[in-house]
Amino acid sequence: IQSKLPSVSTTIFSTMSQLAQQYGAINLSQGFPDFDCPPELMDLVSEAMRAGFNQYAPSPGLPLLRQKISQKTQQLYGHSANPDTEITVTSGATEALFSAIAAVVQPGDEVLVLEPCYDSYVPAIELSGGVPVFVPLQFPGFRVDWQQVEAKLTQKTRLFIINSPHNPSGAVWQKEDLDALTTLTQQYPFLILSDEVYEHMVFDGQSHHSVLTVPALAERSFVVSSFGKTYHTTGWKVGYCIAPAALTTEFRKVHQYLTFSTATPLQHAIAAYLDNQEHYLTLPAFYQQKRDLFASLLQPSKFELLPCTGTYFQLARYRQISDLPDVEFSQWLTKEAGVAVIPISVFYHQNLDQGVIRFCFAKKEETLRAAAERLNQL
Ligand code: PMP
Ligand code: GLN
Repeated sequence: IQSKLPSVSTTIFSTMSQLAQQYGAINLSQGFPDFDCPPELMDLVSEAMRAGFNQYAPSPGLPLLRQKISQKTQQLYGHSANPDTEITVTSGATEALFSAIAAVVQPGDEVLVLEPCYDSYVPAIELSGGVPVFVPLQFPGFRVDWQQVEAKLTQKTRLFIINSPHNPSGAVWQKEDLDALTTLTQQYPFLILSDEVYEHMVFDGQSHHSVLTVPALAERSFVVSSFGKTYHTTGWKVGYCIAPAALTTEFRKVHQYLTFSTATPLQHAIAAYLDNQEHYLTLPAFYQQKRDLFASLLQPSKFELLPCTGTYFQLARYRQISDLPDVEFSQWLTKEAGVAVIPISVFYHQNLDQGVIRFCFAKKEETLRAAAERLNQL
């Protein structure tokens, strides 16, 4: 049959995790923790199930969970989102991203995308008939080149997709980036889709600059986050989208026919657990310690680590080890060295091989040590 997504094949995350399994490699490829969520959170799920919360949740999400998200957003970003009209719980951030794009992108609309970018954005744009317009992030710092952004913006740009902290680079936006974006909103009518799933993983005393901290941005933005990242529960697929009421109305039209609602007992458990601020307030220190440990373990290796200020990903150059293109090198590393990683060229939509791979350091100390032992032998 004629494919609607001719350039899409199996995502690199599935491919590399499968290869890791096949070769018994340590899996630092697909981004997920190899440790559990807090046991109290698991108990809360089980309690919710036993209390009979096993049927459909309201389509926009449990009211209590939306209230808790609203309170948290107010405390962290000073933005007041109405839980009834401006917050929707989704089946992972992936669903939120898709629903937002499908809700506003019409055939022929231009959507500005900074690359490298997370791999679900572009297929979602294409399924809506939109036209992705790419702006490369500067290499190797992965900062936004605001002049290039302005050069690509037009009156037809419907949506601008942004992501900080950034997957795969670990780069984090500064206040100046929000200022530059705000200036552009005064000249162009685009909407914003801000992927902030790594909001609680920002290091070195820096802070997460949410678009929700700037009213002029919040009023035209869909802001997406994921409890999978914050609670080490990527397999639960619970996320949410915050957007002004008019945008949320359109968003919910898609959401209600895409998934209708999200797993009820998980929503009950997360709503109760959100009162524990300590968990997310200590997450930066928790992951910074893992970043630092991994970097120090790789000190004797031939990998050259790039700066990482956020997320649970560490980029590394490997040219002192091999001249292979990054996809081949990642396969080789999995099969021959027993460590699976992600090549970053797959996050670009141009032929660009920078000789850089991505490690996920959301792993137990013993996993990181075992991986480093193998990597240090190369
Ligand atoms: N955006 C980015 C940047 C991500 O890294 C991920 C997780 N891989 C997602 C969205 C999707 O999150 P979820 O697992 O909640 O669908
Ligand atoms: N976001 C995760 C990553 O970047 C993977 C998500 C997925 O497997 N779809 O590795």
